[in-house]
Amino acid sequence: MQEEIPSPQEYYTTFPLYQGIRLSEENTSAIRSLLSSTTAVDTFCPSCGEKSTFQFKQFICKPIYCKEGVERSFLYNMRFMGASIATPERKGIPSTVWVHGLWVSEFICSRQNDNDFSIHENRLDNHPLIISSWVSETSLMKIGQYPSIRDMEDSSYKRFRKVISTGDVREIGTALGLYAHGVGVGSYVYLRRVYERLILSLGAELAKEEGWENKAQQKFHSMRMDEKIERVLTKLPDDVEHYKPLYAFLSKGVHELSDEECLAYFEPVKDFLFMILDDLERAKARQESRKKITANLNKIVERHSGSRG
Ligand SMILES: [Zn+2]
Repeated sequence: MQEEIPSPQEYYTTFPLYQGIRLSEENTSAIRSLLSSTTAVDTFCPSCGEKSTFQFKQFICKPIYCKEGVERSFLYNMRFMGASIATPERKGIPSTVWVHGLWVSEFICSRQNDNDFSIHENRLDNHPLIISSWVSETSLMKIGQYPSIRDMEDSSYKRFRKVISTGDVREIGTALGLYAHGVGVGSYVYLRRVYERLILSLGAELAKEEGWENKAQQKFHSMRMDEKIERVLTKLPDDVEHYKPLYAFLSKGVHELSDEECLAYFEPVKDFLFMILDDLERAKARQESRKKITANLNKIVERHSGSRG
């Protein structure tokens, strides 16, 4: 069970389900303000297919004490029920009890609202983000999320299908999924497999171009990751050297890394990989377009010289 309380941005987007956060006298008010948060969150909207801001809409459910003697209600919007709300302090109940119960918050994608002003606020299909949490006597747990964390991942990484294999694209998806569920070493291992295969294939290309002998290729294979990256620098984006500290991290054996370290490095390592893949994709598109121009040009030249002769 973790002690640290995530930010609303983290909790309402990527924080994993069923991971307990310890509840104590000291952090009750922090947990209460997290669950009562009405701050907008930024995340990928699967309905829009791009990043969006989700504005807080309402509490669908929230634990409330009523003066009418009902000990605890989980009703939404008590003012419609004609009940009056009491604070547990007034009843002499410990402050931790104040947050116990089921909390369900609803956020709405602001892109959807931007695009269609005619939408009635109670329509159900306006790209909602719904989070439910359960607070027991000892912990807070996120117990539901719609759309799922997996669906809310940005799937734009699939654009790399043009430059890496379907298997590699799938492994990037697995890495992102594991990271979203707080699995540090596991997510990093998947990312690193894609890296290694990419660097090896760039090495093979370079060997072909420069006519390396088998021995040199073998030497390349036995190099550390940072040395391999140095060797294939001409195949990588121009500014890749700015990211030298990452090469060293990539060279470490998985057994040398802690789960926390892998989680901390995941985003920069992923961005570094995506930067290289975007660059390769652009280079490939440039090459294809040149090939097409040359082919069309040759056709014209051939026709022209044919008509002359
Ligand atoms: Zn949306």
